[in-house]
Amino acid sequence: MNLESILLQGVSKQRPLVIAGPCSAETEEQTVRTAKELANSGIKIYRAGIWKPRTKPGGFEGIGETGLPWLQTVKKETGMYIATEVATQNHVNEAIKYDIDILWIGARTSANPFAVQEIADTLKINGFDGVVMVKNPVNPDLELWIGAIERIYNAGIRKIAAIHRGFSSYEKKLYRNIPQWHIPIELKRRIPNLPLIGDPSHIGGKRELVSPLSQQAMDLNYNGLIIESHCNPDSAWSDKEQQITPEVLSYILKTLVIRDTEHTTKNLTELRCQIDEIDNELLTILAKRMQISKEIGQYKKEHNMPVLQTVRYDEILEKTISHAKQLGMETNFMKTVLEAIHEESIRQQIEILNNG
Ligand code: PEP
Ligand code: MN
Repeated sequence: MNLESILLQGVSKQRPLVIAGPCSAETEEQTVRTAKELANSGIKIYRAGIWKPRTKPGGFEGIGETGLPWLQTVKKETGMYIATEVATQNHVNEAIKYDIDILWIGARTSANPFAVQEIADTLKINGFDGVVMVKNPVNPDLELWIGAIERIYNAGIRKIAAIHRGFSSYEKKLYRNIPQWHIPIELKRRIPNLPLIGDPSHIGGKRELVSPLSQQAMDLNYNGLIIESHCNPDSAWSDKEQQITPEVLSYILKTLVIRDTEHTTKNLTELRCQIDEIDNELLTILAKRMQISKEIGQYKKEHNMPVLQTVRYDEILEKTISHAKQLGMETNFMKTVLEAIHEESIRQQIEILNNG
């Protein structure tokens, strides 16, 4: 099977196209052993980071060029295709020298047009004929992601895929990187033939999220998955919380439900994602409104004003209900919503008056 048909698998029915391997190549033993275990369970494309972009200095920044011959050994001994991350001209030149088949541009790099252009120019000079995968930039900017893809395309590369690895945020709760599924969905709508690969490892940041996030990517009709897998995850030198053994990976892949009746499922899942996003926005806006209302409460307290000012409330009610009508919403529904919001604002202002 050649590279082209492997990637084309991505745009045909055969899903998912799986790319697996450790976050980083650490030692020759770990690199080759992990690869062999993955190859034995049928994985055809091996990933391993050689140069690692780390948030802070002092962590493991990748084994560097020393690891490239290990990847060649993997290729020779398992027949797998090899993928690694490149961020500079030197990385590209070195990776090509060692016959790396697939290069990916990491999330921090695809946020930087200068760096992407340098990579694109170097690929062009070398006449690179392999695959380039472009991860979404760390910030949720679809145009920047598309721009990075265009730079690679303009360098003559035709085997391109996009990787969705989620987006950075200050809050780190459930996810390491918030998925914001509507962004890759919109990318797929804008460039329908571009294979889309989900990266549940970097979205979730935790082993237990790899399976549900992979399933969600499949339900959204993604073409493939890139999953971090290490022969001994607990002792990994980077991203150990999210790496899984080849055995666990194999189990997860077997349990994935790949729906054939994608059309209805896909549409429904897409719509549900949009609803989730909108609910999030609604919550943020409501929280902002409550915050402002508290500030008003503080002002009223300082100026010895009563909390309830019926004229103002009637004004809001009338204006909003008439606006809502124009947007096709029922008066009664709008009244209920507004009353609930108003009641909570009053409750909070009274609290401020009494304690604040
Ligand atoms: C990686 O794939 O190991 C990696 C560093 O990913 P990202 O660029 O998505 O953080
Ligand atoms: Mn990683």
